[in-house]
Amino acid sequence: CGIVGYIGARQAQDVLVSGLAKLEYRGYDSAGVAIRGAGQTIEVRKKAGKLANLAGELQGAPLAGTLGIGHTRWATHGLPNDTNAHPHATEDGRIVIIHNGIIENYLTLKAELSARGHVFKSETDSEVLAHLIEEKYQQVPGNLYEAVRLALGEVRGAYGIVVTHVDHREIVAARTVSPLVMGVGEGEMFLASDVPALLPYTRKMVFLHDGDMVVLHDDGFRVTDLSGNDVQRAVEHIDWDA
Ligand code: GLU
Repeated sequence: CGIVGYIGARQAQDVLVSGLAKLEYRGYDSAGVAIRGAGQTIEVRKKAGKLANLAGELQGAPLAGTLGIGHTRWATHGLPNDTNAHPHATEDGRIVIIHNGIIENYLTLKAELSARGHVFKSETDSEVLAHLIEEKYQQVPGNLYEAVRLALGEVRGAYGIVVTHVDHREIVAARTVSPLVMGVGEGEMFLASDVPALLPYTRKMVFLHDGDMVVLHDDGFRVTDLSGNDVQRAVEHIDWDA
């Protein structure tokens, strides 16, 4: 339901929690974050219930790292519990995703992936995305963007998806139907499902269109379509306050 992503010099946890709080008006039943730490790991913390539950836990034991993704969930497939909360990771924890929307063909994809040995932890439609991207990544090692692009070629439905990989200091995202906006900073980049999450940090925003993919680095971004062609999207200045 709510999405926030960050890459830059700040502690990601602060940006994610404050951004998700700004999206609370959308309604949600669970919240979670994933932060890429220094030690070649992505740490996931997620909890059913109010964002305050998660925020309290994070305050007691903060996650260090300057790249992260956060999600508030409005359950469509699977009960609102800790396991079904986003982010969702591969079994080895190396790829971590969050997703807004509904993957319509998830049952077929889940059956195929299970038959090929993937073990699922949650009841969500979203978790298939992590496993599918993992398989594609094996076909295009080192190219997270391409793995996500190939995976999305097999997916039907609505999605705002944000993807991280332990080996990459980058964030890959895409949208179809579900909204996604990118915030452009100085040596830092942001993502969110809605503008208010980003207004404390930047007023330079890029509104992604249906079928857009984006790769974020600390100092820039690249937008393409789902076929991999570069797409130009204007940076707009937001002069209103939330
Ligand atoms: N369909 C996904 C789920 O149930 C995502 C829901 C959302 O948009 O928050 O986990």
